[in-house]
Amino acid sequence: METSKKLTLHVCGRCKRMLPIEAFYLDKKTNRPQNYCKECRKSVNRNHRNVEKQNIVNKEKTAYPVITLIKDPAVRKELIRHALDTVSESIERKRKKLMAIEAEQDI
Ligand SMILES: [Zn+2]
Repeated sequence: METSKKLTLHVCGRCKRMLPIEAFYLDKKTNRPQNYCKECRKSVNRNHRNVEKQNIVNKEKTAYPVITLIKDPAVRKELIRHALDTVSESIERKRKKLMAIEAEQDI
């Protein structure tokens, strides 16, 4: 019995399934099956895209309030002043809260 068409199995590096070579994309350079099966390859690519998208969203979010990047000095000054106000307000709130706690403890 001749087995010219030998079934070559390859273990996927991601799902660890033993799959026929057909389930893998071939590496164009080496002509060898890739580490991940087609299924995993697709889901990895999809996740990768989602991560990239998420990163872009995060970047946009963090890039927005960078005061020092604002060109207009008047706007920048106003924003810095506002930021300082916000900070001192929050410090004041914390201070009052602490005082209130201390006052309670005194009673
Ligand atoms: Zn797989």
